[in-house]
Amino acid sequence: MKIALNLAKIKELLPQNVSLVAVSKTKPVADLWEAYHAGQRIFGENKIQEMAEKWAQLPKDIQWHMIGHVQSNKVKFMASFVNLIHGVDSLKLLEEINKQAKKSSRIIDCLLQIHIAKEQTKFGLNETEFISLILDENLKKMQNIRIIGLMGMATFTTDSTIIANEFKDLKKIYDNQKQHITPNFELKILSMGMSGDYKIAIENGSNMVRIGSSIFGNR
Ligand SMILES: *Cc1c(COP(=O)(O)O)cnc(C)c1O
Repeated sequence: MKIALNLAKIKELLPQNVSLVAVSKTKPVADLWEAYHAGQRIFGENKIQEMAEKWAQLPKDIQWHMIGHVQSNKVKFMASFVNLIHGVDSLKLLEEINKQAKKSSRIIDCLLQIHIAKEQTKFGLNETEFISLILDENLKKMQNIRIIGLMGMATFTTDSTIIANEFKDLKKIYDNQKQHITPNFELKILSMGMSGDYKIAIENGSNMVRIGSSIFGNR
């Protein structure tokens, strides 16, 4: 009941071009069913094992997004069904995703995670690393992956100016490479914004938000 209401409230605030990833990590399958019955079809999880268990139990018209940090040795557990991997930050990981996607006869869409926050702990590439990755000759050979956008997380702070500036930085990096188009690279998705900062993210160009606690309650 509450989940459907929360979803409706958030959807009301989202512009047409912004897609909503309902972040269901740690939540029981019953909660995902409730969101599903309210029309939600994109779910985000941060652990591959947990995502695979939920995928097995839920309808197959759900799109599953991996939003957490991905370990190479676990890619094989999601390669047959994952729809979008948000947190890719190395060529080595792309190589593994490409290899496992090929085994499943699929092309897997990926977002590159860009480090925009001040915190040291957050994963992701800086702009220089990002550019050298997309120019790497090895990337061109990967026919079973497609980089379709960027993802970033702002600093965990209540200072909305800091958050806005970090999102602006990411939007600039995104815009700078919009013209760079190859068979497996074309930026269309800018995944930024969570429960606490999605309004700021949308104001600064996000077209995909990842919202958990505002839909499902605190974890
Ligand atoms: C958990 C998580 C979210 C959702 O966070 P909420 O604050 O619950 O909305 C979004 N993105 C990533 C990468 C996450 O790990």
